[in-house]
Amino acid sequence: MPESTPGNKGLFWKGREMFDLIWDLIQQSRISNLQSEADSARAASRTTDARVAELERTVESLTLMTMALGELLAQKGVVSSEEIEARVRDIDLSDGKLDGRVATSPRVCRKCGRMIAGDRVNCLYCGVLMDQDRP
Ligand SMILES: [Zn+2]
Repeated sequence: MPESTPGNKGLFWKGREMFDLIWDLIQQSRISNLQSEADSARAASRTTDARVAELERTVESLTLMTMALGELLAQKGVVSSEEIEARVRDIDLSDGKLDGRVATSPRVCRKCGRMIAGDRVNCLYCGVLMDQDRP
């Protein structure tokens, strides 16, 4: 059994200080990585918020145009609003579901060859953008 001498005790404390220093460096590195990830997530969130705002403006604009066209067609006696509503219902039901959505047929991914729902923007399996596949 080695005796506990002042020299041994000094070595112990130097080892402990070294351990603490290394531990602090590892923790600082982890904190730095997490801050970096948080910055990236904040940037992605801002991009998503901007995209959602753009889509909301587009939907509002399309809604206005659709309402204007419907009213003009009704005013000019081309079709009645009931005929337009019936046509909307027929188109909605074309996929067997009255859900307020337009049916899109499934597509084959150009990269991985799997079948993907027609309304997906990117492939569920490989992630490739599907919009470029549209004719
Ligand atoms: Zn794919």
